[in-house]
Amino acid sequence: KSGFVSIVGRPNVGKSTLMNNVVGEKIAIMSDKPQTTRNTIQAVYTDEKCQIVFLDTPGIHKPKNKLGEFMVKSATDAFKNVDLVLFVVDESKKIGPGDRKIIEDLRNINTPIVLVLNKIDQLEESDLFDLMKMYHSEKLFKEIVPISALKGRNVKELLKVIQNSL
Ligand code: GDP
Ligand code: MG
Repeated sequence: KSGFVSIVGRPNVGKSTLMNNVVGEKIAIMSDKPQTTRNTIQAVYTDEKCQIVFLDTPGIHKPKNKLGEFMVKSATDAFKNVDLVLFVVDESKKIGPGDRKIIEDLRNINTPIVLVLNKIDQLEESDLFDLMKMYHSEKLFKEIVPISALKGRNVKELLKVIQNSL
């Protein structure tokens, strides 16, 4: 199997950390400063069964200047012309306006979307359950996969979901 998979979401949710964890190399810069990733970065994951090209994109935010506009455009371009979108959110307890805007934009594309709920190392089990229920009720996601990109928790399972979706 093979395909293009884009990783999109708000700034700082862990998109670059996820991509680096999947390919096992520090390709994208990770930082606690929002907007570290300024353009889309590609990394290839290969194993005996598949080859997947991941696109790590800048965080989607309300742009304040031309650089911001360029970053948001390169992220939203990655919704299209790919085989699968990974929409990464973090452990925030509510769907905030930033995520809400992205969800509404994602409704307009035909590409299958997997929701990646990151930073579960910072979550109580019961909160995780509530969050999964909340995202499930959006009826937009093919699958919802909780992970910790930083600790590498459940990343292998996410890869399986990706492979089965291609
Ligand atoms: P991006 O802006 O979405 O690419 O986010 P980054 O990958 O640069 O990560 C933003 C911050 O979140 C960094 O400080 C990461 O170390 C942290 N981070 C990423 N994944 C996790 C995770 O699974 N758990 C925790 N606790 N922190 C994480
Ligand atoms: Mg990044």
